[in-house]
This record gives sequence, C-alpha cells and structure tokens, in this order.
Amino acid sequence: MSDCIFCKIIKGEIPSELVYENEHVVGFKDINPEAPIHLLIVPKKHISSTMDITDNDKNIIIPEIFAGIQQLAKEFNIEQDGFRVVNNCGNYGGQTVGHLHFHLLGGRELQWPPG
Ligand code: AMP
Ligand code: ZN
Repeated sequence: MSDCIFCKIIKGEIPSELVYENEHVVGFKDINPEAPIHLLIVPKKHISSTMDITDNDKNIIIPEIFAGIQQLAKEFNIEQDGFRVVNNCGNYGGQTVGHLHFHLLGGRELQWPPG
C-alpha cells in the first residue's frame, strides 16, 4: 500500500532500526518507545488489521510473527523476566497505524489493566 508508513519501512523508503527479518515478517524498534524494549513485529504483506487476517495468513504469517517474537524475546534478554505482546485493533483498540503489527514490550514491570 503506497501511503502506508509500515509498507514504506519494509521497502526501505523510510529509515527504521531493523531487528528481525524472515521471509514474511520484519521487526523494528518503535519510534516512540513505551518501555525500555519496544519492538514492532509486522508482516511484509500489507494486512490492515487483525480482522483482515486470512486463513492462509493464519497458516503462514501468524506463526512466523510468533517465531519472531520468541527469537526477539531471547535476543533482547526479556524471556526470563517476561514481557507483553499487544495488538491494537481499530479505533477503540487504539490502532493508529493501519498495517497489522504486534508490539513487544519489556525491560520493566508493566502495569495492568491498560486504560
Ligand atoms: P498502534 O497505536 O498500535 O497502531 O501502534 C503504532 C506504533 O507505531 C506506535 O507505537 C508508534 O510509535 C509506532 N510508529 C509510528 N511510526 C513509526 C516509525 N516510522 N517507525 C517506528 N515506529 C513507528
Ligand atoms: Zn502497509
């Protein structure tokens, strides 16, 4: 999608701090971190939100996203203390970028519930 900021990051048109890449997925640092470690794991294919994930995506891309999350949790040394994976969906969910992404937050004790 030409006007999607994450598609531009994936194509290298906007700089990012890339931390992970496999065939279908990339991970990069969030530009406005809410925790000492705040990464975004996103499919290379433009998928607008959780509600737009297809059955094929569920077989291929979603497992790759969680493989990436596990690898990054180990690489950033947060797997022992724990971390949070967040997907915001739609207006009430607080989604601000219309390209599916999973936040990986860690490095401090996180509060619950969200506001
Ligand atoms: P959400 O509110 O769940 O849609 O999350 C969007 C996230 O994208 C926010 O945490 C932003 O800080 C982050 N973000 C927006 N633009 C960029 C960018 N150019 N590079 C990295 N992260 C970004
Ligand atoms: Zn996109």
